[in-house]
Formats: sequence, structure tokens, C-alpha cells
Amino acid sequence: MSTVNYTEIIFKIKEEYIKHTRVNEDGSVHFTLEMPVAEQVCPHCGESTRKSKGKRSREVKFGVIQHHPVTATYLQRRYTCQECHHTFIEKNPFVSRYLQISKSNMEYLFRQFSEKGSFTEMAKRSDISVSTVIRYCSKLAIPKPKSLPTVLGIDEYKGNAGGQVYQVIITDVRNHSIVDILPKRDTNALIQYFSSFSRKARKQVTYIIMDMSPLFKLVMQTMFPHAHIVADRYHVCRLVDWAVERVRKREQKILVAHSKMLKHNRRILMKNPDRLTESEQIKLQEILRISDDLRIAYGLRLAFRKVFKTFSIHNIERHLQLWLNIVERSHLVEFNNFKLSFTNWFPQIVNAFVLPYSNGFTEGCNNKIKVLKRISYGLRHFERFRVRILMLSKKNSASYFHS
Ligand SMILES: [Zn+2]
Repeated sequence: MSTVNYTEIIFKIKEEYIKHTRVNEDGSVHFTLEMPVAEQVCPHCGESTRKSKGKRSREVKFGVIQHHPVTATYLQRRYTCQECHHTFIEKNPFVSRYLQISKSNMEYLFRQFSEKGSFTEMAKRSDISVSTVIRYCSKLAIPKPKSLPTVLGIDEYKGNAGGQVYQVIITDVRNHSIVDILPKRDTNALIQYFSSFSRKARKQVTYIIMDMSPLFKLVMQTMFPHAHIVADRYHVCRLVDWAVERVRKREQKILVAHSKMLKHNRRILMKNPDRLTESEQIKLQEILRISDDLRIAYGLRLAFRKVFKTFSIHNIERHLQLWLNIVERSHLVEFNNFKLSFTNWFPQIVNAFVLPYSNGFTEGCNNKIKVLKRISYGLRHFERFRVRILMLSKKNSASYFHS
């Protein structure tokens, strides 16, 4: 391994600063660094001086090159000011005051915070302990954003940071980035958070995309009375799918002779009928023949999905109203809720099919959060978790714009 080529480029160590190089048996490299006497500006009075007054040795970790740690003993020179007689340490390109890791290593570590990877991996790459990585991560603070997006997505995710079961994610639906994550999903915390934005910032928000959550609806209608709330269309469709699934489970229990068949072919009921293979179509016919309720439920699902092929607000409203009427006549208990909930959310559901916005991106973020939680030891601390999520998101949205 050549020690000279990379030292200046990666570690900002000029060859002339290296007094001694030791390559150990395990491949690790240790430098002894010293800078020549040069003119220094006194930080106390601003006068120049060249009066060197001894050296103090510091151990510095520069990181890892090809799995080999690079460390140095830096003999840092002290200077005496001849004007005010203060002593001070020389300026240097390697390491900041009080720190044990080099500037280049620190920059590298901070870059890693915006990439996927666990604290353990980062510690290994920077040749420092996991607790040091966590300490540096805790030093990062990303302030609350000043503005809010025109199309705002809000959703909850299952968190394990800060002792809360549910946490909240706020996204910029149009620009595909995370605006913020909040530690608590409760009315007061949400109202407090959104009240802290200026009236002007809140006026920016024109559309709010959400699942059919009464809590979110109440908070957002209070805080953004001028904005249009849009139910997430995937969530709405899932509610109908789940109702079909509940009917199937009930029938599976009752129709003992067919229960295995009903269990094994449950995915067929959720598939787009146009995409069924020939054998799946035969199975579907069989299922629908043996259970009247499942036939009705399946019909309701297909009828609901047809709203995707309906255009204009008026037609969509009419379609949904007709669908609710059929639901009522079907007398399926699993569909009982729709009459009330879809009526309460009627304008928001219509918006879901009229407007091009959904929480698809927001839910994608929730999956990323899940991955980060799985690989990250030391993210139970909410602020650290938030920093990493926001740094990851910033990086991703940047690449999104460049592509
Ligand atoms: Zn001075």
C-alpha cells in the first residue's frame, strides 16, 4: 500500500508535515506529524508572531483506508505572542480543537449520516467507537422547517423512538421529500407543532393528503381551514379490500368443505380481474359459486374500483353515492361501516379520485423508516432518529431532482 498518494488528497496531510511513518504488521499506518514554524496571528490581539514555544502531542484518528486504520501523533506547536504575551496553538489542516478525530474523518462521518447504514458500520469506517458516533450524531441539530409545502402529506408510522408507539411523518407530496417527523401522534402535540408556523406559512398549504383518520382530519381542519383535505386513494381502496377479506374469513369458517380452497386462493380475490391467469379465473368462478356473500362482496369491490375510470367531480360523486346505496342493500355486516364513514368523508374521498395526489410517497418513506430502524442501533433517541431521517431524505430528494 502506498502511503504517500492518498495522504494529501484524503487526509490533507502534506508530505513535508510527515516526520515519520510506521506501517504496523496488521497493516495499520501511524504518522508522526509536525508543522514547520510559520507566521501566526495571535487570536487575542491580532498581532503576528513567529515565536514558537514548544510542542504538545495529540493522538488523531484519520479513519480507515482499505480496512487499515490510519492514526497519527500530531506534535502541535504552541506560539507566544510578543505583544500581549498570550500563548496559543498553531493553525493546522488536520484536526479541530478538543477533538480526537481528524477534520477529514469528521467530514466523512457526517456524509455517512445521510446514507443508509448503521452506527456500528460508521464506527468501523471511521475507526472510532459506536458511542463516539452517537455523540457526534447528537450534536447535529436540524431546525424545524420555516415553510410548509403546497401539497402536504401526513401519516403515522409505528415508531420505537422516545417511548412513543405512533409517530407522525409530514411530507412534501409534489417534491417527494420529508418535511419533518414528529415524536407524538396526539391532538395537542400536533396543534402545538402547526401553530408554531406563521399564518403565512400555513396559508401556503392548499392540499392535505391523509388516511381516513378522524384525529388528523380534526387537527388539520382546525389548523388549515382554507386547505382541501384529500383522502389517500390507496387507503380508501384498502378499506374496501379489507371488508372483502373479512367476508372471506367468515365464509371460510362456515363453509367447512371449502375452507381450504377459500384460504389458499385468497389472493385471487384481491387481484385485478384483467390480470388473472386462466387457472386463477377458474378458481375465482368456483369461489364465487360456493358463497353468495363473497360474490356480493367481490362485486362491491369491483364496482368501487370502477370509480378510477370515472371522470368529473359530478360523475364521481354520483358513482360513490350509487355504490353506497348498493352497499346498504347488500346487508353485509362487514360493509356496515362504509355508509357512515364514507358519508362523513364524502368530499375528501371525491377529492381522492379527482386530484392527482396520494400518499404513495409518504408510505414509501415509512418503509425506509422501517429499514433504518432495523439496522440502527442507538436510534431510540428521537432527535437522533429525526436527524438521520431528514438527512437521508434531503439526499434522496436531491438525487430525485438531478435525475
Ligand atoms: Zn497577542
